[in-house]
Amino acid sequence: MDRDLARQVARQMHGKRIVAFTGAGISVESGIPDFRSPGGLWERFDPEEYATIEAFKRDPSRVWQMLRELDAVIAAARPNAAHSALAHLEQMGALCGIITQNVDNLHQEAGSRKVVEFHGNGSRLICLSCAAEKSARAARQEGSFPPLCPQCREVLKPDVVLFGEPIPAEAAAEASRLAREAQVLWVIGTSAQVAPASFLPRLAKSAGALVVETNLEATVLTRSVADVTLPGKASEVVPLLIKELERLRC
Ligand code: NAD
Repeated sequence: MDRDLARQVARQMHGKRIVAFTGAGISVESGIPDFRSPGGLWERFDPEEYATIEAFKRDPSRVWQMLRELDAVIAAARPNAAHSALAHLEQMGALCGIITQNVDNLHQEAGSRKVVEFHGNGSRLICLSCAAEKSARAARQEGSFPPLCPQCREVLKPDVVLFGEPIPAEAAAEASRLAREAQVLWVIGTSAQVAPASFLPRLAKSAGALVVETNLEATVLTRSVADVTLPGKASEVVPLLIKELERLRC
């Protein structure tokens, strides 16, 4: 990305209430494929077929064939430069929070503290029958497949929002509040095609926020919602813009 463009956008963002809204694209360079990258998990497991609550209730062991592979990919992933730079921006006192659609826990691993998990977090497993919880790491270490509830022996489900499930009420309310109060919403690595998360950029814009978009390609937001587009890889664009924001503080 052009350094002059980064400098110009940093000047527009400086001193404002910045909120980041992230999607699968920010974690692609950590080794977790998004829904659209060629050669990824989702070429073999159609998310519309495998990542629905109906499919899980009908045949949890079948859905766990996909979940097991996704869990292995996530377990091997580490935060990349984009996650780390956002954590740094929060430490600088210049980021009000991150709303993430990701379930990979990488923002938290990078050190971000104010993270709204819009679609849950795959590092936790929950029992749909008795609400017991278990960590995905413990289940992985035990090697039981599919993982069973320690109390009632039902198949556990990752604490993530599958298609057909509602967004956790607290996360939905907090995300809406952050989006409405943001003066800058920085949208990073999302195709904005999964509702209701996809409504957040419009909500922020209608409340007066500047919408900045970082993505490898044009999305449905690019023409209609984004005020500024910073194209490119998240691991390059995000640290560069944050470096420029940091320079403005000195
Ligand atoms: P998506 O797959 O629909 O879109 C990803 C976007 O990121 C695309 O527009 C793509 O062009 C862009 N992108 C890819 N690599 C990039 C990079 N290096 N830098 C910048 N942009 C890049 O993802 P979505 O919009 O987040 O929606 C998919 C849903 O699936 C989400 O709800 C999410 O919960 C879930 N999901 C999560 C993970 C994860 O936790 N890491 C991974 C896959 C899917």
